[in-house]
Amino acid sequence: MPDTAATRYRCAACGNLTRFTVVTNRRTTAFHHYSVGGALTLEDEQVLDETVEEVTCRWCGNGNAVEVIPAGEPMPQ
Ligand SMILES: [Zn+2]
Repeated sequence: MPDTAATRYRCAACGNLTRFTVVTNRRTTAFHHYSVGGALTLEDEQVLDETVEEVTCRWCGNGNAVEVIPAGEPMPQ
């Protein structure tokens, strides 16, 4: 399910709005639920801390021109 509240990006160099490589440093807590056979299911995962370290445009491969679109700003169609 898409996270519609997620941060949006825009590449000012090529106009890309939809394809980015995002490097995120994320600290989480989760309930690791193992079956008797050893299969793992993660439940109740919560993000304690999350830092976006790098965003790169997938179209032009350049991260220098990527801008964060402020929340609430209408998106171009
Ligand atoms: Zn680009």
